[in-house]
Amino acid sequence: MTFTLERQALELRFRSVHLAARQWLTPDYVRVRLEGADLRGFDSPGSDDHIRIFFPDAPPASVEELRAAPSREYTPLAWDAEDGWLDLEFAVHGADGVAAPWGATAELGAIAGIGGPRGSMVLNGRPDGWLLAGDETAVPAMRRFAHLMDAGAVGRVLVEVTDAAHELPIDTPPGVVVEQVHRGDAAPGTALAARLDALGADDRPAGAVFGFVAAEQAIVKTGRALLLDRWGLDADHIVVKGYWKSGETEYHAPH
Ligand SMILES: Cc1cc2nc3c(=O)[nH]c(=O)nc-3n(C[C@H](O)[C@H](O)[C@H](O)COP(=O)(O)OP(=O)(O)OC[C@H]3O[C@@H](n4cnc5c(N)ncnc54)[C@H](O)[C@@H]3O)c2cc1C
Repeated sequence: MTFTLERQALELRFRSVHLAARQWLTPDYVRVRLEGADLRGFDSPGSDDHIRIFFPDAPPASVEELRAAPSREYTPLAWDAEDGWLDLEFAVHGADGVAAPWGATAELGAIAGIGGPRGSMVLNGRPDGWLLAGDETAVPAMRRFAHLMDAGAVGRVLVEVTDAAHELPIDTPPGVVVEQVHRGDAAPGTALAARLDALGADDRPAGAVFGFVAAEQAIVKTGRALLLDRWGLDADHIVVKGYWKSGETEYHAPH
């Protein structure tokens, strides 16, 4: 079996939403539900799609006004295009910011806007093996990729979190091992990088492997070294991305 990653352009739409519910999964990771009639018809065909969530101070009078508000990128986790809701998950990091504090503390009913996704990467077919690796910010994408796996899937999922109290389980079939990698006090990404560096040729699943690595942007070098250099994966079968950058506000990952 093999598979392809196919790029798909989508019509860019902006939608008004409000915060409808909040569920803490760990002390610093929260799932929020956004609701709004505008979400009817929402779609996100690619597991690592992102939308832009906008945080206006007051209900915007126009799309231009909405687009002028601060915004950040998040992964659609689940949605209902008929009832009009969308779930996102926020890593509530201790650094300053706009999005993480909003996810953690905005009052229920608070307004926001979303734009996108404006493009998707759709996985067609069946990979022979899987390697997913990321920190908290990549958990929604990894949850969605895991959802595509069938009962016979094989591979590995690595999730970097602070410690045992902050683990984020990901549901996978029995042949896909999920490892929670604890960073402790180390800089974000360093524990995941060390774990990826420790994977050798023997750890490569056979056949056509899909590789997804996303975390603090320093992970990009490590991810490529494993997937391209040591495992020899096809460059068209991998996604390796910085999802945020230490010390940088509103980091834009190169697409
Ligand atoms: C394609 C894509 C999909 C993404 N999906 C998600 C998602 O589903 N859930 C999610 O939580 N994040 C996701 N992110 C990451 C998110 O966009 C960034 O973490 C964003 O910077 C958060 O905005 P903020 O306003 O909280 O912080 P900013 O104002 O952007 O940054 C303020 C400070 O916080 C630091 N910072 C930002 N993020 C983190 C972090 N995770 N840990 C520690 N320090 C941090 C910055 O370096 C900066 O110093 C995604 C990013 C991309 C590119």
